[in-house]
Amino acid sequence: MRHLPLFFDLAGRKVVVVGEGTAADRRAETVRSAGAQVSRIAGATVADFRGAAAAFVATGTLESDTAAQRAAKAAGVPVNVADRPALCDFILPAIVDRDGVVVAISTGGASPTLASVLRSRIEAALPERIGALAKLARTFRAQADALIPDPARRRGFWRRLVEGPAARLVLAGDEAGARRVALGELDAIRCRLAPVGIAHIVGAGPGDPDLLTLRAAQLLQEADAILHDELVPAAILGRARRDAELIPVGKRAGWKERGVPGWAQADIEAELVRRVRAGQTVVRLKAGDPFIFGRGGEEVEALRAAGLPVSVVPGVTAALGCAASAGIPLTHRRLASAVTFVTGHRADGSRDEAWPALAAHGHTLAIYMGATEAASVRDRLLDAGAAPTTPVAIVENGTRPDERVSTGRLSDLARLAATHTRGDAGPSLLIVGEVAALAAAADQPLLAEVS
Ligand code: SAH
Repeated sequence: MRHLPLFFDLAGRKVVVVGEGTAADRRAETVRSAGAQVSRIAGATVADFRGAAAAFVATGTLESDTAAQRAAKAAGVPVNVADRPALCDFILPAIVDRDGVVVAISTGGASPTLASVLRSRIEAALPERIGALAKLARTFRAQADALIPDPARRRGFWRRLVEGPAARLVLAGDEAGARRVALGELDAIRCRLAPVGIAHIVGAGPGDPDLLTLRAAQLLQEADAILHDELVPAAILGRARRDAELIPVGKRAGWKERGVPGWAQADIEAELVRRVRAGQTVVRLKAGDPFIFGRGGEEVEALRAAGLPVSVVPGVTAALGCAASAGIPLTHRRLASAVTFVTGHRADGSRDEAWPALAAHGHTLAIYMGATEAASVRDRLLDAGAAPTTPVAIVENGTRPDERVSTGRLSDLARLAATHTRGDAGPSLLIVGEVAALAAAADQPLLAEVS
């Protein structure tokens, strides 16, 4: 290591910046962001540097750079000269500043480009709210040191604070919840109890693993246990931490009728509560988005009622995933000014009196759980005044390798749906409205062939 990295408190101190170009501007700005009083000059005499904590030189010519560097040294001020490592007392690192959490990167002057590539990698890896996490730690500093005299247990507390449930809540934007959890953990440690874990109600998206959110992917790597729906494909479960316990808690249409025992919603909620109480980090992984026909709301209520920490991670819902991959814009300047996500399944809350408003022209419907109910969906829409010629599309296994799209007219919906409800059929979404006619365009090559 040629240079020792140090973080220098410049608040209120004089720092001289010599030069007029953009390199000098950038240095002045960086130094100012650390609270220094910047004295900006074009040429330099020894007197200009008196009392300064540091000097940055970037005049652009070797002659003026050298003159300024000599003057700074004569005044006893450490100096940095842009792009001239031989003239430098110290070098300026590439900096990542995430709200007070600062990472400095140096290649010892060998390659500023490499430093800046490393910087962007670190930028991408650091959670957006890492600064808020540092602030949370700061607010607990004195308390934790006073309350936990044993150093090993104190380290345990800090470790949990920055990696465990409280950290997860801060990173998800719930600072009040995080403080509550951290206080609970302090208490637990004081009373020598095991602290509780956390549940994350996570949307897995429509099936393509690349459509997981960054946060969902991170949480799959942190989970002790993953309670997942039947609809979540193996390709996504494959992204979980190797030793995470995978628990399928699916209920599938038709299972009950065939006497296959599935998990009742109340059992799932009880299992979440039990595991979080036991200190586990539990991911409840749901297809699409947990709050769109996902019963995520009930699980959040159950955990809150038990006084346990919970966070919700949104996912790409089936309507958005299917529309994108079938090439159907859900709204369109000329064709549709509204879109509604609705369930086709009466047992799941679809009310007949709601359909007339939905059947309006220029309104797109994304119908979940509708393929097996296609005849009834068609009748309800026609009764509500929809035209029999209204375009429809059925997207089965949207965004997955075995995606299959059928298109036609509303009057034909039941016949079209029949090919998507055979025994081994995947999940299907119905899209009804003028925009559904655009699905066919997805079959055309996007780029005209070059002749
Ligand atoms: N929470 C989920 C929906 C669960 S309800 C979400 O936000 O997407 C289950 C219904 O979602 C299925 O019956 C089907 O209509 C739809 N669905 C889920 N994944 C799908 C996919 N990959 N392709 C087509 N439809 C899908």
